[in-house]
Amino acid sequence: MTPPSVPPSIAALPARTPELGALLERWSNINSGSGHFAGLTRMVAELRTVFSTAFPAATLEELPADAPGYNPPGVIALRFRCRPAAPLQVLLCGHYDTVYEATDAFQTARWLDATTLNGPGVTDMKGGLITLLAALQAFEATPHAAQIGWEILLTPDEETGTHGTRHFFKEAAERHHFGFVFEPARPSGDIIHSRKGTGGAVITAHGRAAHAAKIPNDGRNAILALSAFALAAAKIPAELPGVLLNVANIKGGVAATNVVPDFAQAELDLRVTKMTDREAFFARLETLAREIGAAHEVRIETKLWLNRPPKENHPTEAALFPEFQRAATDVGIKPFTWVHGGGASDGNFIGAAGLPCFDGIGPEGDHLHSAREYCRVPTIAARAANVALFLHRLAAGEIKLPPRNG
Ligand SMILES: [Zn+2]
Repeated sequence: MTPPSVPPSIAALPARTPELGALLERWSNINSGSGHFAGLTRMVAELRTVFSTAFPAATLEELPADAPGYNPPGVIALRFRCRPAAPLQVLLCGHYDTVYEATDAFQTARWLDATTLNGPGVTDMKGGLITLLAALQAFEATPHAAQIGWEILLTPDEETGTHGTRHFFKEAAERHHFGFVFEPARPSGDIIHSRKGTGGAVITAHGRAAHAAKIPNDGRNAILALSAFALAAAKIPAELPGVLLNVANIKGGVAATNVVPDFAQAELDLRVTKMTDREAFFARLETLAREIGAAHEVRIETKLWLNRPPKENHPTEAALFPEFQRAATDVGIKPFTWVHGGGASDGNFIGAAGLPCFDGIGPEGDHLHSAREYCRVPTIAARAANVALFLHRLAAGEIKLPPRNG
């Protein structure tokens, strides 16, 4: 039974499941791969209509999200704002792009059973966008809603690194007290405690070409040097806790097999748990490049970067999480905790800008970024109720936020 402290609009959310599931099916069937301009435009038209209708009092801004080389020209983010003068301000966000491009074989949603929808972006994160929508709709009908002003930020480029919209998150983080990132919950129902920061590397080995059969041989094999580097680099995470490294691809040499190759190049995925891990990690890679380069008489160049800073757990998040769990219990969600995630999200930018947020609070599902992606549809209304009740208690003054810079 729903406790009496749950307002009727929130208690009524589970009854919306069939309607929310139909909306999810419709949105999943719109291809909005990060590179598919026409599909992103169709998706943004849907979002504009649905969110404007749901929140007629909110202002809408269409924000250009161009990022040459990353986003198709002309893509936009949507920003809805309501009650910007209210004492408490919260940011709610989600991305509407997916990893499935127009050429992907995975294009349509299908029901696996009465409550499970398989389809592109059903959990990551069109289901999250619907959770956000339903949560705010229910919250708006609660008695103290006037105490909280909100901003919804819907973006087209999370899956390719948020190159065209990261400044909107940074800017939004300044004017809010708390944030909500509707990325999917873990399949267990757990949410995100912290996330790794993500980056990469391009490692280029420049050797010396020579005839392979020359005796003695003054050629210097770039592939062998780069291979030695890759094998040694792969061992760094065992020495430096908190970092991850993946040798993702490698190329080099020429077609002729009687040539000592003078060129080889590899791309790496790099991740760190804390910003302070970065320095030692990068220094280790650079030292390795120098040492192995010297041993092979091959010049090894390193280009290293972090694209998203890590999302570290914020003390305000730790202070409020028990209240978020209590709200979940009161709306009938089975107990969950929060966990560290290796993957990044826009919560990384929000957290790095100093705004505490709950991340991974969207619906439950699994197998993201594959044709097996599915969403447990009733968890959309359940997670929306969790967020709406938490917001209601914040608005009612039952939950107190620590001061913004405290
Ligand atoms: Zn996502």
